[in-house]
Amino acid sequence: MKIRKGDTVQILSGKDRTRRGKVMRVLPKTFQIVVEGLNLRKKHSRPRRQGEKGKIIDFPAALPSARAGLVCPHCQKVVRVGQRFSADGKKERWCRKCKASIN
Ligand SMILES: [Zn+2]
Repeated sequence: MKIRKGDTVQILSGKDRTRRGKVMRVLPKTFQIVVEGLNLRKKHSRPRRQGEKGKIIDFPAALPSARAGLVCPHCQKVVRVGQRFSADGKKERWCRKCKASIN
Protein backbone atom coordinates (compact mmCIF):
# COMPACT_ATOMS: atom_id res chain seq x y z
CA MET A 1 0.00 0.00 0.00
CA LYS A 2 1.17 3.50 -0.83
CA ILE A 3 -0.38 5.16 2.19
CA ARG A 4 1.29 4.88 5.59
CA LYS A 5 0.47 5.82 9.15
CA GLY A 6 1.06 9.53 9.78
CA ASP A 7 0.49 10.55 6.15
CA THR A 8 -1.95 13.32 5.27
CA VAL A 9 -4.60 12.14 2.85
CA GLN A 10 -7.56 13.68 1.06
CA ILE A 11 -10.81 11.77 0.69
CA LEU A 12 -11.77 11.41 -2.97
CA SER A 13 -15.35 10.14 -2.77
CA GLY A 14 -18.32 10.06 -0.44
CA LYS A 15 -19.57 12.64 2.02
CA ASP A 16 -16.09 13.64 3.22
CA ARG A 17 -14.85 14.17 -0.34
CA THR A 18 -12.14 16.91 -0.53
CA ARG A 19 -11.54 16.84 3.23
CA ARG A 20 -8.05 16.16 4.53
CA GLY A 21 -6.84 14.35 7.61
CA LYS A 22 -4.01 12.39 9.17
CA VAL A 23 -3.86 8.60 8.84
CA MET A 24 -4.18 6.99 12.27
CA ARG A 25 -4.18 3.32 11.27
CA VAL A 26 -3.42 1.28 8.19
CA LEU A 27 -5.08 -2.12 7.72
CA PRO A 28 -3.03 -3.73 4.92
CA LYS A 29 -4.97 -7.01 5.01
CA THR A 30 -8.19 -5.33 3.95
CA PHE A 31 -6.59 -2.36 2.11
CA GLN A 32 -8.27 0.05 4.48
CA ILE A 33 -7.19 3.10 6.42
CA VAL A 34 -8.55 5.07 9.38
CA VAL A 35 -8.32 8.84 9.05
CA GLU A 36 -8.49 11.16 12.05
CA GLY A 37 -11.83 13.01 12.25
CA LEU A 38 -13.13 11.73 8.90
CA ASN A 39 -15.62 9.04 7.86
CA LEU A 40 -17.28 9.36 11.26
CA ARG A 41 -19.83 6.82 12.42
CA LYS A 42 -21.91 6.79 15.57
CA LYS A 43 -21.47 4.19 18.23
CA HIS A 44 -24.04 3.70 20.99
CA SER A 45 -22.58 2.79 24.34
CA ARG A 46 -24.62 1.34 27.17
CA PRO A 47 -24.25 2.53 30.76
CA ARG A 48 -21.65 0.27 32.37
CA ARG A 49 -21.59 1.53 35.94
CA GLN A 50 -24.45 2.74 38.06
CA GLY A 51 -25.25 6.40 37.62
CA GLU A 52 -23.49 6.44 34.22
CA LYS A 53 -25.52 7.22 31.12
CA GLY A 54 -25.42 5.60 27.73
CA LYS A 55 -24.01 7.87 25.05
CA ILE A 56 -23.65 8.16 21.32
CA ILE A 57 -20.00 8.46 20.36
CA ASP A 58 -18.55 9.58 17.01
CA PHE A 59 -15.62 7.50 15.89
CA PRO A 60 -13.66 7.36 12.62
CA ALA A 61 -14.44 4.18 10.67
CA ALA A 62 -12.06 2.41 8.32
CA LEU A 63 -12.41 3.22 4.63
CA PRO A 64 -10.89 1.68 1.49
CA SER A 65 -7.47 3.18 0.81
CA ALA A 66 -8.49 3.63 -2.84
CA ARG A 67 -10.95 6.28 -1.69
CA ALA A 68 -8.11 8.45 -0.37
CA GLY A 69 -5.27 10.20 -2.16
CA LEU A 70 -1.91 10.96 -0.61
CA VAL A 71 -1.17 14.67 -0.09
CA CYS A 72 2.47 15.45 -0.92
CA PRO A 73 4.14 17.29 2.01
CA HIS A 74 6.19 19.35 -0.47
CA CYS A 75 3.65 20.56 -3.03
CA GLN A 76 0.47 20.10 -0.90
CA LYS A 77 -1.35 18.45 -3.82
CA VAL A 78 -3.04 15.08 -4.11
CA VAL A 79 -0.44 13.06 -5.95
CA ARG A 80 0.40 9.62 -7.15
CA VAL A 81 3.43 7.99 -5.60
CA GLY A 82 6.27 6.06 -7.14
CA GLN A 83 8.91 3.77 -5.67
CA ARG A 84 12.61 4.29 -6.25
CA PHE A 85 15.93 3.68 -4.55
CA SER A 86 17.57 6.62 -2.82
CA ALA A 87 21.29 7.36 -2.94
CA ASP A 88 21.97 5.16 0.10
CA GLY A 89 20.22 2.18 -1.50
CA LYS A 90 16.99 2.33 0.49
CA LYS A 91 13.53 2.19 -1.04
CA GLU A 92 11.74 5.49 -0.95
CA ARG A 93 8.42 6.87 -2.09
CA TRP A 94 8.42 9.88 -4.33
CA CYS A 95 5.90 12.42 -5.57
CA ARG A 96 5.14 12.02 -9.27
CA LYS A 97 4.25 15.72 -9.54
CA CYS A 98 7.17 17.51 -7.90
CA LYS A 99 9.63 14.55 -7.85
CA ALA A 100 10.51 15.10 -4.19
CA SER A 101 10.93 12.09 -1.93
CA ILE A 102 8.22 11.39 0.64
CA ASN A 103 9.21 9.53 3.78
ZN1 LIG B 1 4.90 16.85 -4.53
